[in-house]
Parts: sequence; structure tokens; C-alpha cells
Amino acid sequence: MKRILLSTLLLFSLAGFAQTQLQSPEQFLGYQLGDRFTRHHRVVDYFKHVDEILPNVKVTQYGETYEHRPLIYAVIASPENFANLEQIRQDNLKRAGVQEGTPSANKVAIVWLSYNVHGNEANSMEASMKTLYELVNPSNAKTKEYLKNTVVIIDPCINPEGRDRYANFYNQYGNFPPNSSGDAKEHREPWPGGRANHYLFDLNRDWAWETQIESQARIKVYNEWFPHVHVDFHEQGHNNPYYFAPAAEPLHDVISNWQREFQTMIGKNNAKYFDEQGWLYFTKEVFDLYYPSYGDTYPTYSGAIGMTYEQAGGGYGGLSITTREGDPLTLKDRLTHHYTTGISTVEITSLNASRVVDEFEKYGKDNASAPAAPYKTYVIKGDNNPDKINQITKWMDTHLIKYGHSSAGKATRGFDYQTQTTNNFNLTTDDIVINIYQPKSRFITTLFEPQSRLSDSATYDITAWNLMYNYDLKGFALNERVNVGKAFTPKTVDNSSVAAKPYAYIFKYEGLRDVEFLAALLHKSIKVRSVTKAFTLAGQNFEPGTLLVTRRNNEGLSDFDNIVQTLAKEKSRRIYTTTTGFVDKGKDFGSGYVNYIKAPKVAALFGEQTSSLNSGEIWHFFEQQLHYPITQLGTEYFKTIDLKKYDVLIVPEGYNYRLFDESTLEQISTWVSGGGRLIVIANGLSSFAEKKGFALKPYTTDAEKTEAEKKEKEMKEKDALTRYEDGERKQLSESISGAIYKVTLDKSHPLAFGMKDFYYTLKTNELRYGYLENGWNVGVIKGNAKPVQGFAGRNINKKISNSLVFGVEEKGQGSVVYLVDNPLFRCFWESGKMIFSNAVFIVGQQ
Ligand SMILES: [Zn+2]
Repeated sequence: MKRILLSTLLLFSLAGFAQTQLQSPEQFLGYQLGDRFTRHHRVVDYFKHVDEILPNVKVTQYGETYEHRPLIYAVIASPENFANLEQIRQDNLKRAGVQEGTPSANKVAIVWLSYNVHGNEANSMEASMKTLYELVNPSNAKTKEYLKNTVVIIDPCINPEGRDRYANFYNQYGNFPPNSSGDAKEHREPWPGGRANHYLFDLNRDWAWETQIESQARIKVYNEWFPHVHVDFHEQGHNNPYYFAPAAEPLHDVISNWQREFQTMIGKNNAKYFDEQGWLYFTKEVFDLYYPSYGDTYPTYSGAIGMTYEQAGGGYGGLSITTREGDPLTLKDRLTHHYTTGISTVEITSLNASRVVDEFEKYGKDNASAPAAPYKTYVIKGDNNPDKINQITKWMDTHLIKYGHSSAGKATRGFDYQTQTTNNFNLTTDDIVINIYQPKSRFITTLFEPQSRLSDSATYDITAWNLMYNYDLKGFALNERVNVGKAFTPKTVDNSSVAAKPYAYIFKYEGLRDVEFLAALLHKSIKVRSVTKAFTLAGQNFEPGTLLVTRRNNEGLSDFDNIVQTLAKEKSRRIYTTTTGFVDKGKDFGSGYVNYIKAPKVAALFGEQTSSLNSGEIWHFFEQQLHYPITQLGTEYFKTIDLKKYDVLIVPEGYNYRLFDESTLEQISTWVSGGGRLIVIANGLSSFAEKKGFALKPYTTDAEKTEAEKKEKEMKEKDALTRYEDGERKQLSESISGAIYKVTLDKSHPLAFGMKDFYYTLKTNELRYGYLENGWNVGVIKGNAKPVQGFAGRNINKKISNSLVFGVEEKGQGSVVYLVDNPLFRCFWESGKMIFSNAVFIVGQQ
């Protein structure tokens, strides 16, 4: 009784305190914006407060992060537009071509402001509160005017995990009052820093690939709106002036004239305010529009004016930092600048709302009737691995890309991705057809076109990402339009007649879904074997890598058949069974060529000295994709760990591994000889090259050395005459920022099981290692290297000709797997995951 009375009283008093007045961020938080780093949940509270008080602001939770923080966005409109919001949204989808029908005559522009994709670029979320408040502040006559024809959407924080990681760090270490010297601890974030999300992914590289939960949730709501203008707020080095549009070259060819023109108009409007205040800024440099997975390019390729704005500061900035000029740069300055450009962008859009809407509609119409790219249709052959087809079609659904089957087959001609030549081929009604006469026309072009023109090779990111190579698909690019006549029908697995108690189960091993299934079997303590030679049984051919689950060795499991069959059905695996281990052709099931797969206990190095991105990729791959346990060993205590407890040790990319001194290398070498499997990735390799006990060597022959020295001398002389203004170009000739190369695979080796004779690698580094003299050269660049797609500096191709990409060294009872290219790069290179999985589960099992 007493308790009930108490809670009633409590409710009553809370209601009494409920706010009925709109508060500014200062009033709500109890401090001035810029005095502190506000934690994410308080910002969410503030947005909810505004939603509660004002009828024309709606805050929606659109997702939840891995660490269970809410992802929210606010829609802010005039009361008139707010009453009409659903109509405005649907009108816009009609203009984009996403929804059928004719839009109303009402022309309302939509501006979307995205903050804090990089967590430690921490002023953004503070600026979002000020921007929200000023848009609805009753005494702000200007913004009231803007909202008459413009709806504003604010995502205050794309990356709450990273933002709180940074804020917590700063709040713990910041001096009071703040120390402006860069020497102070408060300016030096510890590994991994606050830039990335929970799994240490850079969310500003993930818009197109959607490997992360935040991106998946955001893309869904983004495509419910199709805004006309999108700003992605960032921070850069603390000495830099502010950067805003227009963007730098290269700009992808699919970007329309209007998109270019309005970027300049927006930039000039921003400049007006910066000029008034005397603030420095730059435009048209550094930040290009090319790689399609950014917060500026993804919106751009979907019809928006997509832009990046960059304020000086970042994780080094703290509450105050002394710049090169000796002046303090404060959090208050930083958020004021972001606030200024945000409102200025809303203003210029509002001033041109009618044109913005008309141009958007024109963009949609052009896409539907006259798309301006040479390749009009992409064909994914129907006989590709069905898992890959299902995966890529599901992914296309999330981006509203339309596809299907042609209603009739025919002979036609197109660019063949497997041979990189234009060939005749037969289009069948089983093939998947994607033409570019649709709303996501230009996005599709950037993802599938055989070559993208690079108007300037000085780009910020990788220069190739083609999905046909990414998934390793048989496919074609056609200059002609092929229409979709029938809806896509996914291939399903028929397991209707499976023998109840067979001698053995047989499963094909052709892609990542098969690895996932293997991981699940091992996780359930099912004993599995891997065949190393192709075999034929009952008229069916099975390739090396095929998985066998024999009754023998699994007798201990009372529910064995049920577990295997249920799991296979759950994972949509085709179940083959046999009543005999006597094969028609190849090796019998009891042969020494059939390996028992011991469920590996996997450890990965994690922490300072490792690349946080690659460490995160490994973490995410095991946890979120394979659902297989992994133990992350901190670099600071790695030496104290007994490696014998583990079967696999993964060394991620890393710069300057101080950890691998002589004694540690010896310890690892001994562990490998005793049966351990060491997997080393990309620049992690330099710690093992030419070290005692390891076969890896940089690429050198005496003749080459002399030749290289001669060439280098010549080049130096030539380069010595490089004009000062061309210095950046000179550097580029030595580098590769990401291009696709064809790798010859030895698919008889377990590292290449489930793969084809070739693998398309996304090369993102200039590492050059020679073929292993004592080991298996499973993946190599044979002969002269030339990218299949993308840009590589002139000297790089020479360097990586005849070089190692993937190799395996056998050492005592164990093995070392050298992965020169990172197959898990941003976790979007689908075919690479198979190589990595083989390294973990299949290599070295006997
Ligand atoms: Zn950034």
C-alpha cells in the first residue's frame, strides 16, 4: 500500500516537473555548448525534449547500435508542412521515380544534416543541438522563413559508440581548465581512438556496403526520404582552415551539371558568412567525389547534392588547442562553424527550393528515360553460385535497386568480366538483369561499370570496387537496354528426400555460406572432414574442399542426424547423403587424402601496434559473419600468454610491431613447429620477412637489384627536375590507393578450396614479396601486373609483377599463412573472405 502511494506521488511530482516550455541546449543541459563534451544519451534527451514540446518536430529512433545506443533522426518542418509531411515525402519519392504516380504541385525541398560519423570529430553532435534549436527558436525569424519551403532532417550522431568513446576519454583526462598544449594527455587519445564504431569500422566508408548495423539502419531510412541536399559533418587536422563545397576532382562522370552547379552556390553562401567573420576556409581541394560508399557520394549518386564539411579539430582538438599560428581553437569555435554552414545550407536551399525540386525531378526523369552512361544493362549469369546471387540481390533490395529476369533469352554481346574482353554470349531467362533505367541508375553505374574514368588520379581513397569482381561473378556489361520481364525467383534448396541414417553426409564447399555452416557444425561439436581431391559418387561430382560428416566419430551424439539435418536446413545447405564411403572416382572417405578438421581455437592480436581497422574487421568477421568464437589477445600482455592453448593465431596489419622482438618471434616459431597455424596479414608481414625461422623474403634477385638501382637512379634524375607544383603527382607514381588485380590461384591447395583458377584481389598496399622458395605459392601475380580496374602509379605495376599474394609455409607440424593483400578489407570484398576462412579452418589440417 505504502509502495503504491509512493509511486503515485512520484508520478504526480514528475508530471509537475514536465517541461512545457522549449529550452535551449544551455537551459536543458545546464552548461554552455562548447564547455563540455556532451554524452550521447543527453543529446538524445535534448532532441526528445524538443519533440515533446513542439508539434512540428518529430524524433524517430531508426536503429540501435551494437552497444545498444539508440540511433535517431529529427524531422523539422513548418507547422503547415508538418501537417503535410507524408505527402511531401511521397511527392519526393514520386519525383525520384521510386514510387508510382504524379507528385502534387507543392515544391518543398528536403535538407538532411548528418553529424559525427567519426566519433572523435566531436564538435558535430554539439553543433547539431544548436542547429536544431535555432531552426525552431521562436525568436529566430530567419529560420522560420527557411522552413516555409524546406524540411530539415537532422541525424545528430551517426556513430554514438565512437562519440562516447571519445567523450569518455576526454572527460576522464581533460585538465581543468583545458590545457591547450598538444603535449597534454587530453589531446592524445589511446588506441583505437574514437573515430570508428564498436567493431572499429569507419562508417564513412560503409554507406554502400552496409556491413555495419548503423549503416543498414540508416540506408533504410535515407531511402524513405531521398533528400535533395545532404551534408556529412567532419573534422580534420587542427591547423586546417574550414573546408566546404564545391568538392575537389576527381568527380565521377555520373554527377550532373546541376549537382556541380549547386555545390558552388552552396559554397558561395557559406563563404559569405565566413567572410563576414574573417574565418579562413578552402574549397575544391582534397575531398573528392568518387568512391561510392561515403556520406557525400552515396547521397550524390542517389540524386542529392551530397557534401562533406570539414572543421579543424578532431581527436587532437579537445576543448581548446593551440594552432600553428599560436591561437587557441576552442570547441565553441568549432561548433559555431559547423552550425553556421548547416544553417547557411538550409538558407541557400530554401532560397532556391523550387529549382532544387525541379532539378531533382529532372534527375529522376533522366535516369528513367535517358541515363547518361555507356553501359545500359548489367547481367549476372544465372549459373553463378546461388548463395552469391541471393546475397547480392538482397543487398540490391536494401538500396532499392531494381532487377529481375528477362522474359526471353537471346544471343547478345557484352563486356565479359571474367576475361575483360567484349564477347558474344547467350542471355537466358535464368540470368539476372539490372538496367540503369531506374532511380538508382547512377549508383548502379558506379558499382558495375567495367572502368570508371578518373578525372584526376589524386584521390582520397580506393579507385576500384566493382561488384562483379568483389563477388567474383560471371557477368556482362551491355551497351543495349534489356528490360526486366519477370520478377527474380531466388533458387531454393530441395532437401525433401533425405535418407534418415546415412553412412555420411556430404556438403559442397563453394562460398562463405558453406563456411558459416562449417563453423556452425564445429560449434555444435560435430566432427567434420575435408576432402583434398575431387571425387565422384552416384553420378555427382564433388570438388576439393567438399565437407564430409561421417557417422563414424559422431556416434557419441545421440541426436546426430537431427542436429546435422536441422542445421543444414536452417542454413539452406543442400544435403547429399551416401550409404557407402566407396567412391566411383577419387579417394574413398577413409583415405589419407581426407582430412579431419579439428575445430580451431582461434586467437587474434588486438590493441596498440595493430591496425584498429584490420583488428576490427577480424573481430566482426568472426562474431557477426561466421558466429565462431575468437579470443582477442591484447598486444600489451601477449608475451605472457601460453600459445599452446590456441590452434590459430592471427596477426593483423600493423605498423611498426615492436612486439615482435627476437624472443617473441622464436616463441611463435616454436609454437608453429609444434602444430600452430599463424596467419599474417599485409604489412604485419614485415615483422616476419627475413626473420629466423620464416621463409618470407622481399622480392629481389641480383640482376633485378642492379636493374632496379639503375632505374632508380634514372628516375631520381628525372624526378629531380619535377616542378614543385607537380610534387604530389610524383608521389602518386609510387603508390596504389586501391586497385583490382587478377591473381592466379593454385586451387589444388586448401587455401584456395572453393575458389576458381583466378581471384580478383583488391590491392591496397605496395608490399612486394617474392615467391616462397620453401612453401606453396597459392596466389601470385604472374607476369606483368596491370590492374583490371582502378588506378596504380606507374612504378607500382613493375614492382608487383611476379609477386606473392597468398602463400603457405609448412613448418614442422604447423604452418604459416602469408596474406599480402588483406582479404577482409572493410569486410566488403566478398570473395576474399573465402581465402581467409580457408586459412583459419582448412589449411594445415591433417
Ligand atoms: Zn571525418
